[in-house]
Amino acid sequence: MNKKIVFTLLFASVCSLSACGKDDIGSLDDSVIINEGSLSDRAEQDTSAESLQTTAGGYVVTEVPTTTTTVTTATDELGNIIAETVPVETPETPASETPAETVPETPAPSVIDYTPSTAAVGTPASTAVLPADAPTPYDYNYGPAPTVYNIPGIKYIDNVLIANKSYSLPADFYPDLDQTCLSQFYKLQNDAAAVGLNIYLSSGFRSYDTQDYIYNDYVARDGQEKADTYSARPGHSEHQSGLAIDVNQIDDTFIGTPEAIWLEAHCYEYGFILRYPQAKQDITGYKYESWHIRYVGTDMSYKIHSKAVEMGDPYLTLEEYFGIDSYYH
Ligand SMILES: [Zn+2]
Repeated sequence: MNKKIVFTLLFASVCSLSACGKDDIGSLDDSVIINEGSLSDRAEQDTSAESLQTTAGGYVVTEVPTTTTTVTTATDELGNIIAETVPVETPETPASETPAETVPETPAPSVIDYTPSTAAVGTPASTAVLPADAPTPYDYNYGPAPTVYNIPGIKYIDNVLIANKSYSLPADFYPDLDQTCLSQFYKLQNDAAAVGLNIYLSSGFRSYDTQDYIYNDYVARDGQEKADTYSARPGHSEHQSGLAIDVNQIDDTFIGTPEAIWLEAHCYEYGFILRYPQAKQDITGYKYESWHIRYVGTDMSYKIHSKAVEMGDPYLTLEEYFGIDSYYH
C-alpha cells in the first residue's frame, strides 16, 4: 500500500482511510480481509488508474482523492522547511482530473484476478469446439467467463470453478454473487418475461457459515445420509462460489412448470447450465434440482450444450463433461 500512500501525499490528498473504504473492509470478517490483501498486492504491481479500483468480498473499493487544496513543501539550501500554499496551483491540482480517471473503463467490475493461464489446471477438458451459433461479444446474449480467483484451494478446469462433493471451497472464500452471472440472469429473466414467463431469483450467494447452518439444520431434521442428497456440506456448496442461482420455488413443485421447461431449454443461451439434471444423481451427487442453474459463461455453456447434442444426452453434467467425480472422499 506504500505506493498508494505516496501517491496520495504527492497530491496532498486529504483522502482519509475511511473515505477510501478501508474502514468498511476492516469491519468485515477475516475472509474478506484475506481477499482484500491479495488484491492490494496485485494493485501495487499496476499503477494504472484501473488499479485504484479493487473488489473485495463483492465490495467495489475505489480510492478517490477528495482534496480541494494543494500545499507544496520545499526545503531551502540551509535545510529549513518552507511550507507554502501556492494559489496558482490550486485550480490546477488533479482534484478535477483524478475523479475522471477513477471511473472504471472496464465493464466487468467483478473481476478480481482473471488469470486464465494460471487457472487452467486439472483433468483435460472436452475437445468440443465452440459451435458456430455461439454468441460473440457483440451479441445481446453474450456473457463472458466468470471471475477466476487465483486462490489456493479452488479447483478449476478450463477456467471453470468446480464446487461439488469432491472439490470444496476454502471456508474464508466469500466472493458474493458474481456480477456477470447476475447481469446474465437479468437478460434471461427479461427474455422469459417477454414470452409471458416469470422467472425470479430466489437464492444466490451463500457463505460457508450460512451453508454450515443450513446443512446442519437439515441433518438434524433428516439425518446426514438423506441431507447429503439435497444439501451440500459447508465448503461444497456451489452457492458459495457466487456462480449459482436458485430460481422461483426451490422445491419439486417447480418441475414441469412452463418456467422450468423454458429454463432448461434456454439457460445455456445466457451462459448457464442446469447443474443437477434428472437421472444424474449418481454422477452429480445430488438429486434433480430443476431450479438450480450455474453460470459458466456463454463460451463454455455453448460448448457443453454442443457436446450434449453430440452425445444425444440433454442432461450432460459438468462432471461428465470434465471427467470428474463428485463424492465425499
Ligand atoms: Zn441451488
